[in-house]
Amino acid sequence: LPTIFQQALPILAKIQAAGFEAYFVGGSVRDLLLGKQPHDVDIATSAYPAEIKSIFPRTVDTGIKHGTVTVLAKSAAYEITTFRTESGYQDFRRPDQVTFVRSLQDDLKRRDLTINALAMDSAGQVIDLFDGLADLRAGIIRAVGIPTERFHEDALRMMRTIRFASQLAFEIEPRTRAAIEQNAELLLKIAVERIHEEWQKLLLGQAVQRGLASFIQTGLYRYCPQMSTCQEPLQKMLTLPVLHFKTVATAWGLFAYLANFSPSKLGDFLKAWKSSNQLIEESREILRALLLMTRRDLKPSELYQFGWPVVWQAGEAANLLGIDLDLNQLHQIYQQLPIKSTKELVINGGILLKNFNLKPGPYLGKILKQLEVEVIEKKVPNHLDSLLARAKQLICSKP
Ligand code: ATP
Ligand code: MG
Repeated sequence: LPTIFQQALPILAKIQAAGFEAYFVGGSVRDLLLGKQPHDVDIATSAYPAEIKSIFPRTVDTGIKHGTVTVLAKSAAYEITTFRTESGYQDFRRPDQVTFVRSLQDDLKRRDLTINALAMDSAGQVIDLFDGLADLRAGIIRAVGIPTERFHEDALRMMRTIRFASQLAFEIEPRTRAAIEQNAELLLKIAVERIHEEWQKLLLGQAVQRGLASFIQTGLYRYCPQMSTCQEPLQKMLTLPVLHFKTVATAWGLFAYLANFSPSKLGDFLKAWKSSNQLIEESREILRALLLMTRRDLKPSELYQFGWPVVWQAGEAANLLGIDLDLNQLHQIYQQLPIKSTKELVINGGILLKNFNLKPGPYLGKILKQLEVEVIEKKVPNHLDSLLARAKQLICSKP
């Protein structure tokens, strides 16, 4: 077992010593069996939350209503969730009621996909009640139980299905796929933030083409914010010969380019997706840079304005579009810029005020900006004396 599981074994042992069952479950077991490094381990137990709290001295009530208690161990924190069943789902997204149960089987039954419904005991023995192992081997994503029912219970599972197709490069089982097609509209019941989270994972998947193809083919895209009219750009994205994104912002920049969005339209679009301001700003900049790149080489001053992270991501998008662009060469030009940010300019407003009879205000800002541009264009060296001399010229020539 990898270290991350080894380290958690004493936790399982302690729960068992108290007379309860405890297993590794969910994504960590799936990833282990796929030979991937799990990012965390989830533990499920027959012990009720109060019982877990009496077994371990240091705990946090993370999601006590849903049965999750975090146990703070020496080297790590572990989320331990009581076996539970769910019922209700009046609103297609959240169970009205969760009931703690003592049986692992009932807990595994409420999980979304067969590959996510595996458990493993402390001896490394896998408990596989829904043929998740066979699906894992065959590369199949299949809902546990009757797909339509499961998507009615929680419509987010449809997005989870296609994002796993992208992350794992798996095939969606036909009945599961058909149920998504029939129930896609239920996605409207789900909070945009939760859809967005799955969408981002889909975009960064190793097989984004599969996820994207399913997103279009099942009609899920119609029920995502402002996407209903975007079949064409999505389709165009799908037909690019290579598709792999290192960042979400790169994907949005490329999508917006294919959709003929202006940067401000992209901003509105991403707001509807409840994106962070940082993602919105970055995606818009990438789109701006990409629009320029598709026409001509960026000038050094543009490289400077955008900054390397934006240029790099726009360059990645440009390459996906088949635009022949040498990112290494661009990087060299960027590296050779005399300054990389305003902070590196040896002159500033304070120095200008001290040396010249100026008042703070827009004029001062204009002079500074001009000096910055001339430094970037290597017309003036970034030395105080040269900059003061140039500032003097600029101020004296003021109309
Ligand atoms: P990731 O690697 O992205 O964390 P994961 O499978 O661990 O993937 P989580 O959201 O962390 O996904 O959920 C942990 C487990 O909880 C899943 O493996 C699955 O068994 C169960 N689960 C999560 N979300 C749902 C859901 N909407 N419906 C049913 N079961 C779910
Ligand atoms: Mg997880």
